[in-house]
Amino acid sequence: MANVKISIIGAGSAIFSLRLVGDICRMEGLSGSLVSLMDIDKERLDAVHALAVRYSKAVGADLKFEKTMDLDASIEGASFVVNTALVNGHSYLEKTREIGERNGYYRGIDTQEFNMVSDYHTLTNTGQLNFFLDVARKVEKLSSNAWLLQAANPVFEGTTLIYRETGAKILGFCHGFHGVDEISKELGLNIGELDWQVAGFNHNLWLTKFSYNGKDAYPILNNWIDEKSKYWKPKDPFNDQLSPVAIDMYKFYGRFPIGDTVRNGSWKYHYNEEVKRKWFGQPWGGADSKEGWAWYQNKVRQTTLDTEKLAKSKDADLLKQFPPDIMSGEQHIPFINAVLENKKTRLILNIPNKNNAVPYIPENVFIEIPVVVDSKGIHPEKIEPSLPEKLVFMYLFPRWLRMEWAINAFIKRDLGILKEFLIRDPRTKSEEQVEAVIKGLMEELPDFKFHYKSISKR
Ligand code: NAD
Repeated sequence: MANVKISIIGAGSAIFSLRLVGDICRMEGLSGSLVSLMDIDKERLDAVHALAVRYSKAVGADLKFEKTMDLDASIEGASFVVNTALVNGHSYLEKTREIGERNGYYRGIDTQEFNMVSDYHTLTNTGQLNFFLDVARKVEKLSSNAWLLQAANPVFEGTTLIYRETGAKILGFCHGFHGVDEISKELGLNIGELDWQVAGFNHNLWLTKFSYNGKDAYPILNNWIDEKSKYWKPKDPFNDQLSPVAIDMYKFYGRFPIGDTVRNGSWKYHYNEEVKRKWFGQPWGGADSKEGWAWYQNKVRQTTLDTEKLAKSKDADLLKQFPPDIMSGEQHIPFINAVLENKKTRLILNIPNKNNAVPYIPENVFIEIPVVVDSKGIHPEKIEPSLPEKLVFMYLFPRWLRMEWAINAFIKRDLGILKEFLIRDPRTKSEEQVEAVIKGLMEELPDFKFHYKSISKR
């Protein structure tokens, strides 16, 4: 019996929290634990707390729950802290995009080459990045041995920032690697018989090893591309794992892109809506087009309705949506179970590049790779074969640089760095355009203004 405290920050996100709570219920070793649900939105918190208690009771789990709006109280005494909060909510991200588009930046200034995912904001998301540091410093102070599990985006910038600026034991989590399951299913391969590895950064992840029954499986994928890819059609805007973009990126970089990496190519796939439709398929043009993103926004609104529906639902419906015998596919709770129960578990985690698993990248940059976790800690796998140099130099290097520019501007509170970042953006046509968009952000986004007003260099 583990008897530990697990804190979930930003727990008002009902579907995500219930996925985690469901996983905790499924892990016998975690019984007796206290789950601390923390959020600043009382209504959401109350709803999720009630659902979690109801679910746990319905499946007969032995768990305790608390709900709090006090960050310190939730973190204090926790052995694991999951941060999934989105400071200022989805509407802030849309406001930022609108200011950028008004000033000639299609999809907003946070949309950058190799980081086109429309809610992975790295330049204007000052409230979110400050909150990451706030949580990490509180973990360091109030629960110094706790693991901080970073789920909120941007994971790449966030984990690297926290690692460099605080002493918290930080790890990044993302479910994007499940793209490998999708590929194996499409190719008719049993995932259990695949020997695979992925490597790169968060949302910049590549299938390095892909072997089936001891033989390289890339030829099977090549065969699918030659014979079947022409019949591919997206089922929804996010369905892009085997899209023409993914295939084109594979042909250039030499390894297959996994998960949101497909959305994070160069401008070649993103110049405008028409180009997006060509690469990501009709009718949406992928998730990061106007239509695709509107589809997603609708889904986000729907989630609130789903939460209300869940709250009124019968236990049987709750169990149907979160089946007691099926793990959610999120890795947070398997990680916790592996540490506490000393159960060797293979996970894909974001960790510092200490063993040089991603070549040419410094040790203090977070990479995403397979690791084995047990009570002694995290054991990174050796990546074999390694990432091709062309991929590292042409894809990972520019993404890494942009991460450094973004967190440098943020840490130094230096608007000059942000402006120079934009000067190097192909959408920028004049210095005046840069000044205008920064002025818009300073005037309309209080968090951004608060962060940059005091020590702006230029
Ligand atoms: P959401 O807005 O639905 O939920 C976020 C919650 O955070 C809300 O309940 C909100 O009240 C709460 N919150 C805001 N400010 C807070 C604060 N200061 N303290 C505590 N709670 C606060 O957002 P979402 O769609 O659930 O996404 C949350 C985050 O998770 C985003 O950054 C998103 O990109 C990320 N995400 C990550 C993955 C992954 O695999 N790593 C997958 C999906 C989403």
